[in-house]
Amino acid sequence: TKVRIGLLFGGRSGEHEVSICSAQAIAKALSTPPNTEKYEVLPIYIQKDGIWQPPDIAHQVLASGTPLEANGEGNLWQFPPQVADVEVWFPILHGPNGEDGTIQGLLTLMQVPCVGSGVLGSAMAMDKIAMKQVFDQVGLAQVKHKGLSRAQVWSNPCVFPKLCDQIEETLGYPCFVKPANLGSSVGIAKVRSRSELETALDSAASYDRRIIVEAGVVAREVECAVLGNDNPKASVVGEISYTSDFYDYETKYTEGRATLSIPAPLPDSVSRQIQEMALQAFAAVDAAGLSRVDFFYVEATGEVLINEVNTLPGFTATSMYPQLWAATGVPFPQLVDQLIELAQERQT
Ligand code: ATP
Ligand code: MG
Ligand code: MG
Ligand code: MG
Repeated sequence: TKVRIGLLFGGRSGEHEVSICSAQAIAKALSTPPNTEKYEVLPIYIQKDGIWQPPDIAHQVLASGTPLEANGEGNLWQFPPQVADVEVWFPILHGPNGEDGTIQGLLTLMQVPCVGSGVLGSAMAMDKIAMKQVFDQVGLAQVKHKGLSRAQVWSNPCVFPKLCDQIEETLGYPCFVKPANLGSSVGIAKVRSRSELETALDSAASYDRRIIVEAGVVAREVECAVLGNDNPKASVVGEISYTSDFYDYETKYTEGRATLSIPAPLPDSVSRQIQEMALQAFAAVDAAGLSRVDFFYVEATGEVLINEVNTLPGFTATSMYPQLWAATGVPFPQLVDQLIELAQERQT
């Protein structure tokens, strides 16, 4: 009999649309031989308002590729009955409420194996402040940074200028202001002046209670995919190039704006260093199953700086994560199969 895969997608995050595209690609891979003999797909769609929809509706969303209008009807705690039939969960949700440990906690309580990281790994890699503290702890090189809270940013007007002074002194310009718990560059600003810094901090505070400011670095952007649990493997390294100011949301999701080079044209020693750092970072945040680890390569000095771990990276047919594995010898359908097996293995 076939293993029933609960493909959980959509979700309450700004990356809802990306999640639909990722789910389309995974559903297709599960319906491709030999996977189709082994697995049965039970898609479950989470609307933008958090309501879960059963497979018949989820199939429609996958077919159309467009989100369902959330109408405020439905009960958050009434799951479709098919949830009880799921034998392995494959949550392909990006960003808050999907990649951050919240869904992982719910699925853990259901006592059903789940693809990807558990609660700790998901939460640790989602929060850029916590993640960078862990990177520092294990000695991974990274840019200078400072974690802030919304309360600090929105504190009384006498404290705020001192905060900005501190950022200017320790990080300088340009620097990057980011909500700590987001993805797809949502809410990120590159700032070059005091007034831009003030605006960006205020804006980031409206996205998240936690904010990170990082020194800007001039570097090539390279990424490495990791697959496995306790003995994970690193893929070949890929590079992203673009002509915009930085790798922002528009560049990420507008066709033709960014170019992926796989493998990245790098000296072997640099590629090897990136792969080693990717595995170290994966272990340091307690990731499992899969992660895409992002780096800055400062060509002028030869330095490799870690940027972040993404525990549920974009998973469309053209996304970096599956493409890196394809170039490493694991085609898309086989990758999906391996991820499910890793979830089952981890449970026992
Ligand atoms: P993802 O979609 O990869 O999860 P994210 O929202 O988590 O993205 P980051 O990867 O931290 O955001 O940053 C997005 C982009 O902003 C980077 O790919 C890079 O182009 C630019 N960037 C971020 N931080 C820095 C920095 N410190 N120096 C230079 N560029 C940076
Ligand atoms: Mg990220
Ligand atoms: Mg992300
Ligand atoms: Mg990134």
